[in-house]
Amino acid sequence: MNVAIIGAGLSGLSCADALAATGHRSALFDKGRGPGGRMATRRAGTVAGEASFDHGAQYFTARHPEFLKQVGDWSARGAASPWPEAGADAWVGVPAMNSVLKDMATRHDVEFNFNAKGLVRDGRKWLIVGDHESRGHFDAVVIAAPAEQSASILALHDFEMARAALLARSQPCWAAMFTFASPVPAAGNILRDRGAITWAARNNAKPGRAGLECWVVHANAAWSTAHLEESPGTVEQLLRDHFEAAIAAPLPAILYSVAHRWRYALSSGTGRGALWNEDIRLGVCGDWLLGPRVECAWLSGQELGARIAEAEIASMPLLGLRG
Ligand SMILES: Cc1cc2nc3c(=O)[nH]c(=O)nc-3n(C[C@H](O)[C@H](O)[C@H](O)COP(=O)(O)OP(=O)(O)OC[C@H]3O[C@@H](n4cnc5c(N)ncnc54)[C@H](O)[C@@H]3O)c2cc1C
Repeated sequence: MNVAIIGAGLSGLSCADALAATGHRSALFDKGRGPGGRMATRRAGTVAGEASFDHGAQYFTARHPEFLKQVGDWSARGAASPWPEAGADAWVGVPAMNSVLKDMATRHDVEFNFNAKGLVRDGRKWLIVGDHESRGHFDAVVIAAPAEQSASILALHDFEMARAALLARSQPCWAAMFTFASPVPAAGNILRDRGAITWAARNNAKPGRAGLECWVVHANAAWSTAHLEESPGTVEQLLRDHFEAAIAAPLPAILYSVAHRWRYALSSGTGRGALWNEDIRLGVCGDWLLGPRVECAWLSGQELGARIAEAEIASMPLLGLRG
């Protein structure tokens, strides 16, 4: 089967892996410029050289046996490493958070800078409609995007899935990124729950990183919601002040700073795993179907890939093909 996957974040790539393991082809489309989704890494030029920030997910945990196996594989391939400072079972991509996605994407056909606006049925096949052109024809479609971004695409084709996506709610997160001329005088490399700040970390102190003094500061959900429509410039200034208050010392000179709004940062999680409509061969996966974590996104993608493969076997003529 030839499957189109909208979204090449972890859930989409995980689904593509599961499909490939059962002999199915997939083509992934992502509106972003490169691998990452909410496990993105941003790079920026500064007067002192290149700065790097994991500005979405900061680390991930692995508990499910299958995900533990996957993380073991990333680790063996040099794409992930434990980060004991963040927690006994905390892992990060190395040398950047998006390294695990880059590693996975090399095994699949991924088109970046493709914003899927809708789907069109052509007989039993699907076309993916982008801003300027379409891609197709596909036997099946998977939508692996945050719930709020999936709902509008689903609405014309499967009311129940669209309803599930509409009912799911994500919390936003404003992230500020700073490069300093010298080390920040903080007691450690991680700050947690200091007023408006839910998390701040010295990015260059994570495993496999070095170089410029780079910090990522995340505002908590309440603060991010209250400041959702502020300009990035205003938010960057405000979070700079909150950061200074959190370390109770003047910040060193800033070489680079920017704020990024994650409008759909942390999903509420519906606990449904993944959804699949065999009649029209349309499915959804993503963290919002399980919980707001990297591990949940991976498990959801695996579940959907396995369900598509099982449905395909079940639909085969009995003679010879079904065991
Ligand atoms: C600030 C922040 C902090 C976090 N902290 C942690 C943490 O500490 N630990 C943890 O486990 N998890 C954390 N998470 C959550 C974790 O990042 C997510 O659960 C996981 O990355 C979700 O993967 P996904 O594939 O479901 O979605 P995404 O990573 O969002 O991937 C979806 C992809 O779909 C693409 N897309 C969307 N719409 C379209 C469209 N119309 N056309 C084409 N492409 C489209 C997007 O560009 C994106 O690449 C954090 C997230 C954020 C934002």
